[in-house]
Order: sequence, then C-alpha cells, then structure tokens
Amino acid sequence: MRALIICEHDGKGIRLGSRSAVAFANAVAEETRGSIECVLLGHSLAAVTQDASTYAPVLVADHPALENPVADRYAKVIADVVRQRGYDLVVAAATTFAKDILPRAAGLLGGAMASEVIGHEFRDGRLCFRRPLFAGAVVATVALNAKPQIVTIRPSAYPAASARPERCGVTSFAVDEAALPKKTEFEVLQSKLSNRPDVTEARIVVSGGRGIKNSEDFERLVGGLADRLHAATGSSRALVDAGITPNAFQVGQTGKVVAPDLYIALGISGAVQHLAGMKNSKTVVAINSDPEAPIFEVADYGLVGDVYELVPQWIARLNGK
Ligand SMILES: Cc1cc2nc3c(=O)[nH]c(=O)nc-3n(C[C@H](O)[C@H](O)[C@H](O)COP(=O)(O)OP(=O)(O)OC[C@H]3O[C@@H](n4cnc5c(N)ncnc54)[C@H](O)[C@@H]3O)c2cc1C
Repeated sequence: MRALIICEHDGKGIRLGSRSAVAFANAVAEETRGSIECVLLGHSLAAVTQDASTYAPVLVADHPALENPVADRYAKVIADVVRQRGYDLVVAAATTFAKDILPRAAGLLGGAMASEVIGHEFRDGRLCFRRPLFAGAVVATVALNAKPQIVTIRPSAYPAASARPERCGVTSFAVDEAALPKKTEFEVLQSKLSNRPDVTEARIVVSGGRGIKNSEDFERLVGGLADRLHAATGSSRALVDAGITPNAFQVGQTGKVVAPDLYIALGISGAVQHLAGMKNSKTVVAINSDPEAPIFEVADYGLVGDVYELVPQWIARLNGK
C-alpha cells in the first residue's frame, strides 16, 4: 500500500503524534511491501521540512494561503495531493487538528474513514483496524471498503518512529491558491503561551479534578507539581465546565486521550469518561480524600488524603525541603 501521512507541526519540527502516525504507516508499508510519504502544509516550512525528512520522504505544500490551519483549505489541499499521487492509505494522528481536517478530506475524496485506531492486523490479506467504542468499553475491528482508506491513529498506541540514518527526499507540491475554498477566513488566534509540554506529548501528566477549588489553587497545586516534574497539566471535565481550566486540558472520552509513563490524578473521582482518556497510562498515582473513589481501582499507587495538605508537602520534598 502507498501511504500518505499528514504531518502536524509547530513551525520547527513535526509533532510527536505524527511520528507515531509514521510508525503505523511504516508497519503497514512493510507488511504490504508498500511505501510511505508525508505531507507538510503551512508556510515558511524550511525547518519543519528538514526535521520531517529524517522520518520519511516529504511533500511540501508551502504557501502563504496555508499559513494558518483553516480546515476547508487544508482538506482541499490534502484531497488534491491524494488524487494526484494516488495513495491507498491516508494517516494522521488522532488530535484536534486531525478531527477538524481529516473528515472533510475524507468527504472530498469519497473514501472510507476510521478514527482513533489503536491497532491493526491483516485478515485474509485485508487491512483491518481496531478502534474503541463506548468510551473504550468495547473494541471493534473494522475493514474499510473504499479507496483511499483514511485513518487517524491514537499516538499512545504506536511508539513514535525513530529518525532514519539518512535524510529522505523532499518534493514541492504546487498549491493553486485560486482553487482554494474561501468560505472560512482566519482572523486571529488567542492562546495562552505555556512553557509546559502538551498533555498528549508529555511523559508525565499531572491532572486536577473537582477536588481543586479554583484557578489559583490549580496553578499552585497541579501547575506547581507539574513544573517540578517537567510535566504537562491536564484536568477532568468538571474543572473545564467550571471555567477553571481550558478545554485543551481535558482528559477523557470527550477530551484528549493520553498514555504517559506517569499520570498523577489529584482530586479526580475516576468517572468512566475520565478513565477512557488515561487508563492506558503506564503508572497511575492518585490522591483522593475518598477511599472508595473509583480512581483507586486503576491506580498503581493511591494516597487517601487532602490534596491541599499532601501536594504542598510533595512539592516541598521535590524542592529539597
Ligand atoms: C458524555 C459525557 C462525556 C464526558 N466526558 C468527560 C471527559 O472527557 N473527561 C472527564 O473528566 N469527564 C467527562 N465527563 C464527566 C464525568 O462523568 C465526570 O462528571 C467527571 O469526570 C468528574 O470529574 P471529577 O472527578 O473532577 O469530579 P468529581 O466526580 O466530583 O470528583 C471529585 C473528587 O475529588 C475528591 N476530592 C474532593 N476534595 C478533595 C480534596 N481536598 N483532596 C482530595 N480529594 C478531594 C472527591 O472525593 C471526588 O472523588 C463526561 C460525561 C458525559 C456524560
């Protein structure tokens, strides 16, 4: 199979999740004696191109009209790339970027799509995908009966691809600006700059739940511990709904799915919708004042107590006090 990976980037390099998408595409290409290429979309992509070319041959759609990820334009360019170059499989990491763009590209291409893939296998020579349903309560295996097959994979399910010893080739893809949809115009991006890693990419995630009363306490306790551990901050939906944390922090069924080496849950009960987003973490530590809290059923280490007492003590210990 010929696979195309839609690589997400931060202007400097490709994101960790896209390296997992490369690993998945590599595995499929190996099993089918196929090949892979990745595509970069955006503007001023020299640095990203260098980085991406250490993982796969690169197609670059570099144009001022693609400076910001406006979904209808990006979907059109992806569809053009796939049609012109004839890929069998289109792959991206299951992130908010891909959730916005890939279904539109699938609509334009008329292919078949499976999202949030956590595994794959070949059955009678057919590529089948495993994907969780009902917040991970069941796992369905599906085959896609159309070309191209379009999938998003959960980065936690595929270890990130390593760099190749030699750089791969780079090809420019000409973007026809006049043909791009103009129904959506980018106006402005409002974002809080943070030095902390993204919750989907961090090796350690410190998450807070309703046990944390307000934004200041969240920053002091959850943020304070995260900074000592070089971790990302996450939260339950309860704090997002209360306006204490931004949407980007939400871990769970309707938030982000993470599987870090260490997940620390502070004042989180462990509702099934939250567990759907973190239960595959390698080690789970929970602090909760209720010994019956369901989070303790998935925790490797549990501490029954008040986060307002225990977390400052933990931070003080890490500070060597
Ligand atoms: C369709 C749907 C989708 C959803 N998607 C998500 C999702 O993606 N992510 C998500 O998180 N939720 C999601 N939810 C909500 C979910 O059902 C729970 O309501 C939510 O996860 C609860 O968040 P919480 O654990 O912070 O709050 P609570 O359930 O209220 O738990 C708070 C916990 O903090 C403990 N606590 C209180 N004070 C302290 C203290 N001082 N020290 C220590 N412990 C303390 C309590 O004992 C309790 O266990 C979804 C719900 C629905 C219906």
